Amino acid sequence: MLITEVEAYLNELGEPKFRLKQIQTAIYTQFVKNFSDITTLSLSLRTNLHTKFGVINSLKVLHSVSGSQVEKVLFETKNGNLIEAVKLSYKATSERGAHTALCISTQSGCAMGCQFCATGAIGFKQNLSADEIVSQYLYFRQRGDTIDSIIFMGMGEPFVNPDNLFTSLYLFTDKNLLALSPTRLSISTVGIIPGIERLIKEYPHVNLTFSLHSPFDDQRSKFMPVNKTYQINEVFKVLDKYIEETKNRVFIAYTLLKDFNDSESHALALTNLIKTNTHTSYLYHVNLIRYNPCPSEVIFERSEPEAVKAFQEILEKSRISNTLRQDFGVDIDAACGQLYATYSKK
Ligand code: SF4
Repeated sequence: MLITEVEAYLNELGEPKFRLKQIQTAIYTQFVKNFSDITTLSLSLRTNLHTKFGVINSLKVLHSVSGSQVEKVLFETKNGNLIEAVKLSYKATSERGAHTALCISTQSGCAMGCQFCATGAIGFKQNLSADEIVSQYLYFRQRGDTIDSIIFMGMGEPFVNPDNLFTSLYLFTDKNLLALSPTRLSISTVGIIPGIERLIKEYPHVNLTFSLHSPFDDQRSKFMPVNKTYQINEVFKVLDKYIEETKNRVFIAYTLLKDFNDSESHALALTNLIKTNTHTSYLYHVNLIRYNPCPSEVIFERSEPEAVKAFQEILEKSRISNTLRQDFGVDIDAACGQLYATYSKK
């Protein structure tokens, strides 16, 4: 149920304008689960809204699993497709205090076909509506959880579902709705250039991560087919533009895969890509990720600790800001798509 649908229905019923505000407050500030709980409305209006829209959250919880610092929830959409959201509880570090991030999906499955990804192996099922994107967050807030930031890094490539993605950004950030600062949102993309350009225009303060995973076009095109359409240098040009226009940092996600993309030449080429534009290079930050092997796939293996260390040392020698991400969630198959895959086999 989208708030715009509620607005249209209220108009149809001839309700005064302030009713919409009452409903928005109840859903997005008080996080009520049912229309019947909105006690500022008359009983007959509550009944009408319930009859028309049912429960407020359109997603059904099928399964959830928790591990150390991670909780993963499998939802079913109205169309019967499955999606996942992952709540990550980070401990305090020297750089940042303890915080909770929610990783949400924008599609069920994904058509991008990245070979290291469990969601890619599922194939495309559906684009999520803006309501379904936001409902993942509402679920956690409705049960009383605090969420400090939202990462669009679950199932799917956000920028190939652009209209629903951008409507969800409106719902998340509008002052009358969820009122989150755009700086608390982060979109991860495999490099869909039109999507990045639209983000620069419409939501320049939303954070951006480019999932790179190889600095070489020929190699990247083989295991991330999107690279045939949007090549690395072209993506970096638009990332430079994002930095120049917003002065925000850009994050480069780099999953280290044993004997595949963890060599010295890969680290040096990555360094060169970032150093090409000296005006922007200081605002790139590389997130090195240890690979979570997918149970059904044996194409890749996790890099050896020595290779990870050597890779990181090359970045540091060139003063490229980088972090080796906290390694948690392996025990519950935290990589997106893995819970779906496990559940579907039952
Ligand atoms: Fe899709 Fe992202 Fe997985 Fe690639 S990495 S297949 S874009 S979900």
